[in-house]
Amino acid sequence: REHTFIMVKHDGVQRGLIGEIIRRFENRGFKLVAIKSIQATRAQLEVHYEDHKGKNYFESLLGYGSSGPAIAMVWEGHGVITAGRSILGATDPIKAQPGTIRGDYATAIGRNVVHGSDSEKAAKREIDVWFKPEEIL
Ligand code: ATP
Repeated sequence: REHTFIMVKHDGVQRGLIGEIIRRFENRGFKLVAIKSIQATRAQLEVHYEDHKGKNYFESLLGYGSSGPAIAMVWEGHGVITAGRSILGATDPIKAQPGTIRGDYATAIGRNVVHGSDSEKAAKREIDVWFKPEEIL
């Protein structure tokens, strides 16, 4: 079973985009196998954003990420990691194509609405940070 971790970040929650983001994954035919509302801690975000340690924006990732509630989800389906990334669009919303979530709803890289795992390894690590195995149905 292929799984990916998708998070509606704090800015996406504040802007009322949870339903829109779920709809796009559902419309595509993917299955929602876990969902919860989270208040991320800095410690969780440090593991989640492990690959970004040392970058100049790392502190703002931790600060902003822990500043308000987010929605954590696990989606299942054939090719869901790659397809999920294309549903999200490019990391920098200015480069994201219209028709993608970021291309339709964002302009700033630090407020890019959603997160999606970029590899099988990242998906496993990220799902482990936010969910217990028994929470994934
Ligand atoms: P995400 O991991 O959130 O899905 P991504 O995988 O498309 O995004 P990454 O390159 O992994 O992009 O960056 C993770 C997050 O770090 C981005 O979503 C963005 O919010 C933030 N980020 C990345 N690069 C920058 C930057 N140059 N300045 C500010 N924030 C950045």
